[in-house]
Amino acid sequence: AAPQTGNPALTPTTTPLTLLRRIGTTDPTSLDDYRAHGGYTALRRAFALGPAGVIREVTDAGLVGRGGAAFPTGRKWQATAAQPDHPHYLVCNADESEPGTFKDRVLMEGDPYALVEAMTIAAYATGAHQGHLYLRGEYPRALARLTHAVRQARTRGLLGDDVLGQGYAFDIEIRRGAGAYICGEETALFNSIEGHRGEPRSKPPFPVEKGLFGKPTVENNVETLVNVLPILTMGAEAYAAIGTPASTGPKLFCVSGTVARPGVYELPFGATLGELLALAGVRGDLRAVLLGGAAGGFVRPDELDIPLTFEGTREAGTTLGSGVVMAFDDTVPLPRLLLRIAEFFRDESCGQCVPCRVGTVRQEEALHRIVDRTGADAAPDIALLREVGRAMRDASICGLGQTAWNAVESAIDRLGAYR
Ligand code: NAD
Ligand code: SF4
Repeated sequence: AAPQTGNPALTPTTTPLTLLRRIGTTDPTSLDDYRAHGGYTALRRAFALGPAGVIREVTDAGLVGRGGAAFPTGRKWQATAAQPDHPHYLVCNADESEPGTFKDRVLMEGDPYALVEAMTIAAYATGAHQGHLYLRGEYPRALARLTHAVRQARTRGLLGDDVLGQGYAFDIEIRRGAGAYICGEETALFNSIEGHRGEPRSKPPFPVEKGLFGKPTVENNVETLVNVLPILTMGAEAYAAIGTPASTGPKLFCVSGTVARPGVYELPFGATLGELLALAGVRGDLRAVLLGGAAGGFVRPDELDIPLTFEGTREAGTTLGSGVVMAFDDTVPLPRLLLRIAEFFRDESCGQCVPCRVGTVRQEEALHRIVDRTGADAAPDIALLREVGRAMRDASICGLGQTAWNAVESAIDRLGAYR
């Protein structure tokens, strides 16, 4: 078996691993080894349950999307399965680009057959016969592992015209992104696959109704799909007993920054931010933690009792997003960090709508003025930042513009930046 990250945190420290259990213990290039470690039992159970039974299990398990938005997966699957228009498509969003997010990479490099199996189950449940896996272009090892896994699955009758001899046809095409953050937005991703510019479409209509090629489409993040395997093998009830009633199951967290053991950590929902950081070992004097990535927000060192759940982070006025936990000690210059985040959004804005195209530029300019004029009164620029931030949040077409001011706002309001 090939070790994946060398990360000691992948060894269970508190609870048995569910999503990461095969990482580093199973050969990611061997279908036989995957099967020897429980592979393809979930797909067999899916065929026994039938499409409606699979959707019922996923709904009862309380699974919600792990890409960041936490939309109920069973609802999405049900809505697609019910569409009279055909064909239906399945799209796996593997364009993991949120700064500080690298959990899907670990899953795809270390357990690629799990994603192939999970995609097959999702497609079967929602009436799709074609799946597209849109992979971040900067993940060459994941590309090699997944390409090999798809080919082997085809050769062994686990993809193709007659999956597992059940008379169900399904295949997967892998598409590589070309480095644009916006192509992780689901409708920009569809445009990219279709050969158009990677620009988001207005929603509604939602992809469940009109998605890839204008057809009903289920789009799920890698981690979301991989969660379907334990749901089917352990049953919805046992799965829902992990975590909290409102945030069920295990969650992967990407810990980076000023910590001794950066890496991917699996914990049940409900552990606190402080417990996670204790596993990773904070270095130096903790000054701030960025939760949820550049689209998320900062919290203070005295807020480490925030439970890592969707409801707990919401109540605390922040977000879990895709599971980013970035720690910063007092050697990190906060104003420079905010400027870097602003540059990122300005760079990655697709420019399609005015609030985001202009707002991200104005935000960066205001932050530059604050950083360059150290000691001068920052109040007028902070007022401008608030006005621009409100306009971006209220009037942008997609999540990029709507969240481009989150981190800066939280740094001003929670950390007292520029005071
Ligand atoms: P969203 O809330 O608009 O939608 C979430 C999902 O639910 C989508 O698939 C959408 O189609 C579906 N949906 C929403 N309402 C629906 C309805 N009424 N009927 C059917 N389906 C419906 O969020 P989004 O813009 O897709 O994603 C935003 C999130 O993405 C943010 O939380 C951000 O943190 C995260 N993000 C993650 C990454 C990453 O690398 N993982 C990168 C950028 C952003
Ligand atoms: Fe493009 Fe920004 Fe508008 Fe999204 S919000 S469509 S990234 S310009």
